[in-house]
Amino acid sequence: MGRTLVIANQKGGVGKTTTAVNVSACLADLKNRVLLVDIDPQGNATSGLGIDKKGLKASIYDVLINGKDAREVICRTGIENLSLLPSNIDLAGAEVEMVAMMARETLLRRALESVREEYDFILIDSPPSLGLLTLNALSAADQVLVPIQCEFYALEGLSQLINTVKLVKQHLNGALEVEGVVLTMFDARTNLSIQVVEEVKKFFRGKVHRVIIPRNVRLGEAPSHGLPITRYDAKCIGSEAYTELAREIMGIEED
Ligand code: ADP
Ligand code: MG
Repeated sequence: MGRTLVIANQKGGVGKTTTAVNVSACLADLKNRVLLVDIDPQGNATSGLGIDKKGLKASIYDVLINGKDAREVICRTGIENLSLLPSNIDLAGAEVEMVAMMARETLLRRALESVREEYDFILIDSPPSLGLLTLNALSAADQVLVPIQCEFYALEGLSQLINTVKLVKQHLNGALEVEGVVLTMFDARTNLSIQVVEEVKKFFRGKVHRVIIPRNVRLGEAPSHGLPITRYDAKCIGSEAYTELAREIMGIEED
């Protein structure tokens, strides 16, 4: 049975989508069958893999709201072993529509049940809020991976996230646990980045991934080419870091 990981942090711009896209692609390159689920109305994970958001015949919206079979919506990407359940702006109104639905927090979990065993990893890229879409993502997952940006307010809001994870575990998904924290956009030239790493390590004892994702211009450029970093520039430091993160998630330790 595969593992389902949600990439979550209700703050925007901390590297959720960059992490979701690149870890998915790296896991696929490491011979895992991977499904990336985009549950953010912004659809950045979708476009980041070169899929035209506006031209979608069906999206995750149809799966959650209209009960369409996920299998009919999942599409291939340019990467072998990597499939995508795409999203676009249609999803923006979904939270309001969901309010009236039965068991509205577990729509995604039920939608993924029929495809779960076809993948070694399912990764879910979530929106920057703790609303119903994120609750659906947390309810569908085994583990949460939290990207934290190396900046001044890094720890702000994290107790809310951890509390939400606890509540979901109590009421909706007893299996949920924190896989770990990954520090992103690290800039070795600034004392601030170094301080944030120390603080986060203190706060999340033992839960912080060894590899730290550096700030890397190539990582910012890759999405506009519709490519994960390993295809855009395989040799850059961003590509190396995300490959290492994928290995850590698989439990392969570097000496
Ligand atoms: P989120 O999904 O949490 O909103 P993103 O992954 O979209 O965050 O990242 C926010 C912005 O920062 C994007 O423009 C992205 O390309 C850029 N970015 C993310 N990680 C890095 C990095 N390590 N180095 C440089 N730019 C990055
Ligand atoms: Mg995002």
